[in-house]
Amino acid sequence: MSGNIWREFWILIGIALASLLLAEITGYPFLIAALGFGLYIAFNLRNLVQLNRWLVNKREDVPDAGGLWGEVLDRIRALMKDTERREDRLTEMLTRFQSASSATPDAMLIVSRKNVIEWANVASERLFGISTPRDAGRRLINLVREPAFNTYLDRGEYSEALEMNSPSQPLRSLSVRIIPFGSNQKLVIAHDTTHLMHLETMRSNFVANISHELRTPLTVLTGFLETLKDMDRPASAELRKHFQTMHDQAQRMARLVDDLLTLSKLETTPAARHEVEVDVPAMITSLKDTGELVSGAHHHHISLDADASLHLVGNEEELRSAFSNLINNAVRYTPDGGDIRLTWKLEGDSPVFAVRDTGEGIAPQHLPHLTERFYRIDTARSRDTGGTGLGLSIVKHILLRHDAHLKIESEIGKGSTFSCVFPPARLIKH
Ligand code: ADP
Repeated sequence: MSGNIWREFWILIGIALASLLLAEITGYPFLIAALGFGLYIAFNLRNLVQLNRWLVNKREDVPDAGGLWGEVLDRIRALMKDTERREDRLTEMLTRFQSASSATPDAMLIVSRKNVIEWANVASERLFGISTPRDAGRRLINLVREPAFNTYLDRGEYSEALEMNSPSQPLRSLSVRIIPFGSNQKLVIAHDTTHLMHLETMRSNFVANISHELRTPLTVLTGFLETLKDMDRPASAELRKHFQTMHDQAQRMARLVDDLLTLSKLETTPAARHEVEVDVPAMITSLKDTGELVSGAHHHHISLDADASLHLVGNEEELRSAFSNLINNAVRYTPDGGDIRLTWKLEGDSPVFAVRDTGEGIAPQHLPHLTERFYRIDTARSRDTGGTGLGLSIVKHILLRHDAHLKIESEIGKGSTFSCVFPPARLIKH
């Protein structure tokens, strides 16, 4: 027990003894005791009233008192100082956070579970046209009327950033990320990528222009080399061999230029245009025939299993290019006489075109990189079979434009399966 509690105890004993003594002298024991304890209670009541008044209206200082009351009030005073210090620290942190978030060029927004805006930094006004407190309490989808953004927001899977145009400045490009935190809240961060996009467009245009410029001289060169290599006179047999090599290399360059042009066209035009109903079964039947021609003396067994009722909405030329790239690869990377199986069927609700080969297979560490430009496992092998290193990049881009994706499964020594998985929305069933 603290000293002050003992003190209160002794005061009560003192009042009782004094009442007894005075009662002896005056002859009024109850009156004297009531007077003594009454004074004690009145003193405590006064302190209680003062404390209550202070609690209701904290403008004055904590009231002063001695004894046990003094101890209680001292503790309250210490608690208040502590709270004040904590509040100061919190205010300082908040000020620092606010000035940091104001200085950042990225837009930052906090939205609640139902995508209601809670807070936005200064850059949000420039990049999203959203500012708080003006727009606090409004739903984000009512202010950002971009279907791709709303689908992304509802998807709940944010491992990849969304590329979109700024809702307030359509000429600006944004890379948007969403980070879920706390109790179903989300932090939306948008980074201005206009400059990067500009550089990317410059790069694509440069590749497209240079490929275009190279095409004509290459055609002329190949034409003359064709004539030279077939001439009996005056060229010697050795010279003819050199002409043949030069002709082959010029053709390889022409293929590279063609693939570069295709890729830059795919990169620079937004989405697949001229979409029509594509008779995929008919398309892959003709591609199978072409595959057999390409295989020629290599005698691959190419089989086809296509569901004739499945058609697809897409760009015919692009789809043909993607599928033929996969079939050509299967022919080029499968030993002579190997089996190649083409299938076109539903997997669940999704229409899937798959090319399964019995080739050398691909080690797992290469799989994530195969669609990168010029990524080859064996460069010499790729070149010898007429590869440019751009085929799978072209396939990936075409599939992206059709909301589809490429699935690659492979086992060393057994073979590989390249599957184009299309969304059910593109299917037309007959
Ligand atoms: P390339 O013109 O070199 O074939 P691609 O982009 O078409 O370029 O393919 C990239 C690389 O992926 C190839 O160099 C090859 O190593 C590998 N690859 C592609 N298809 C197959 C396949 N069916 N079997 C084994 N490896 C393959």
